[in-house]
Amino acid sequence: MGRVMTNDPSCIFCRIIAGQAEASKVYQDDLVTAFMDRRPLTPGHLLVVPNEHTANLAGLDETIAGRMFVVGCQLAQALRRSGLRCEGINLFLADGPAAGQTVFHSHLHVIPRFIGDGFGLRFPPGYGSGASREDLDTVAAKVEAALRGNRGESSEQEE
Ligand SMILES: [Zn+2]
Repeated sequence: MGRVMTNDPSCIFCRIIAGQAEASKVYQDDLVTAFMDRRPLTPGHLLVVPNEHTANLAGLDETIAGRMFVVGCQLAQALRRSGLRCEGINLFLADGPAAGQTVFHSHLHVIPRFIGDGFGLRFPPGYGSGASREDLDTVAAKVEAALRGNRGESSEQEE
């Protein structure tokens, strides 16, 4: 596996990528590195991280983001073939403290799952009643407008 220059010596993931901190690596290319989570939710729990220090999704280059997902999918398939207990997979990315991010070098979790593994998502009170079409359309319009703004596109470019 190639060695990559670290770009934030105070960041544990940068140090792992550069080979300056211990980790059980399973994959590395020019854009991303994958290694075992030090505190696995289930055996086989992996992290896919950009080689370049990037704290959050907003700073993530499109090509690198795409590569993270592709490698995450390949690792998911590998986990299913690995002999580890793996009846399902969760891909999970926490962006920001409110979402549970604790290491501020963006990372995609690849988590093997099986019935009774004890892990899960907790739903908020009142979940399940559904939202009205009107509310969904209002929210969709806000997101759509923000998306156009982010991408610097005018509405004329929309279909
Ligand atoms: Zn870093």
